[in-house]
Amino acid sequence: MKALSILGCTGSIGRNTLEIAAAFPERFRVRALCAGGNVALLAEQIERFSPQVAVVRDESGVRQLCERLGGRSRVEILHGPEGYRQAAILASADMVVSAMVGAAGLKPTLAAIDAGKTVALANKEVLVMAGETVMSLAAARGVPILPIDSEHSAVFQCLQGQDRRFLRRILLTASGGPFLNSGREEIAAAGPRQALAHPTWRMGRKISIDSATLMNKGLEVIEAAFLFGVPADDIDVVVHPQSVVHSLVSFIDGSLLAQLSVPDMKGAIAYALSYPERLPATQETLDLAALGRMTFQAPDRERFPCLALAYTAARTGGTLPAVLNAANETAVNAFLEERISFYGIPDLIEAVMGRHKVVTSPALSDIIDNDAWARETARELI
Ligand code: NDP
Repeated sequence: MKALSILGCTGSIGRNTLEIAAAFPERFRVRALCAGGNVALLAEQIERFSPQVAVVRDESGVRQLCERLGGRSRVEILHGPEGYRQAAILASADMVVSAMVGAAGLKPTLAAIDAGKTVALANKEVLVMAGETVMSLAAARGVPILPIDSEHSAVFQCLQGQDRRFLRRILLTASGGPFLNSGREEIAAAGPRQALAHPTWRMGRKISIDSATLMNKGLEVIEAAFLFGVPADDIDVVVHPQSVVHSLVSFIDGSLLAQLSVPDMKGAIAYALSYPERLPATQETLDLAALGRMTFQAPDRERFPCLALAYTAARTGGTLPAVLNAANETAVNAFLEERISFYGIPDLIEAVMGRHKVVTSPALSDIIDNDAWARETARELI
């Protein structure tokens, strides 16, 4: 029986994680549920999974949750950063599923690693911001970081049993997002509704916009560089609109290994939860004959400038990836609120990166300070 603490339980990854826990009650027990502001859904999840601890963003969330539960649950309700930390280090949990969105997940994920919990990581921004700190703490505590991101899960699966000396490159696949076949003018005029309409994946709003700009793939290049200890220049991106090849690795003998399945995050989540075992699929399985055709093409770096910005941040390292991430989060929010245009996103990120004085080998405090600086600078520029 594996005991889970789920950060971001009300999100797309969190809800899928709970579906898997519900499908295998003999294998998983939910001990902690951490939401942001969606108290209504959290209350339903508490009634269904009876966790020991539940966490919400603030005190008003605690009051609302108590009202909704109406004394029917014995759950301990915590709030704010200290609440998330307590859930991440909960003595009765073995594994922490890190599935908050954005920078909010960094501190609780570090706390989980420090407490020796196995981490199933969806929240890619954690590694983008503080990859060196996270990976070195995980190595020091002997804590496995099991990827949930489908591309990284694919690479992780392809590398099982392989001698890493023979690895040549990593190839991350990208669906291309909703604007794969759109011209620059059409993309420039797009608003949130068009940008959120992802053709193959159903995800949260922030990652959906990141997929439309290809920043998601850029963040994944940085994530993969830290997770697998490979320089960003040895990681390629290939556009694969059918989203069934989740990523590939190539070896020095010219062989490519790939992992394939239908585009449903439940597959990658189940693998991380059950690793090194495998669970029977709760999602459809892939029918290659019905699929018929798979296509691949190079990404267009001119129509999607975010990808090049992420490679620049990855090559430079230090605090630049955290600054890229913070500027991107601010830009995506401004785009969703219709305060900047679609191409305002890369323009803003580039402007913030251009003003940044990179700190090499940053301490966690440098990362947090520069994350705040980048958000403030981005807001001023908007
Ligand atoms: P969602 O937006 O669907 O969910 C985000 C979760 O984080 C919600 O539970 C939300 O709570 C919580 N949250 C948001 N802000 C805060 C905060 N400040 N403090 C505490 N909790 C907060 O995101 P996704 O599930 O789509 O993505 C989660 C992470 O996983 C992201 O980093 C994303 O890049 C990554 N990922 C997602 C994939 C997907 O298919 N969705 C695929 C691969 C990676 P509430 O709703 O209650 O406010």
